[in-house]
Amino acid sequence: MKTFSVSVVTPDGPVYEAADAEMVSARATSGEIGILADHVPLVAPLTINPVRIKKGDHTQILAVSGGFIEVRKDTVTILAQAAEQATDINVDRAKAAKERAERRLEGTKQDDIDFKRAELALRRASIRIDVAEK
Ligand code: ATP
Repeated sequence: MKTFSVSVVTPDGPVYEAADAEMVSARATSGEIGILADHVPLVAPLTINPVRIKKGDHTQILAVSGGFIEVRKDTVTILAQAAEQATDINVDRAKAAKERAERRLEGTKQDDIDFKRAELALRRASIRIDVAEK
């Protein structure tokens, strides 16, 4: 099967690199996208969701907190504020973040911005727990 290179990059540096990926699946704001070799060039904003990278008979799953996917000839780049491989996720930290966010969401809704921030924090924590426990 034809392969392509993938890199997942955050402000802290590269989180994942592969020279020979066969497929990348991610959830863009416009819906699920699957990238194979020779995909048309594309830039799309991503939602806070797991990204799957298939390489041979192994699929690597990363927790990706939004950002963008860019597809160019033979190269896929994911640029996000935060992204973690399953083995780098601290589940206790994610569970604590999830509980904190849930407590904020249960309280009286005083401020739309804080509410939105808590929703996003909850989403990040939830996908981290999912990815770590897969
Ligand atoms: P927390 O409240 O625990 O900091 P957060 O969702 O606010 O969670 P982010 O702002 O998304 O955290 O991420 C800040 C940095 O910490 C990023 O580099 C991210 O990869 C890392 N990070 C956040 N949560 C975890 C976790 N549970 N395990 C490992 N790294 C994490």
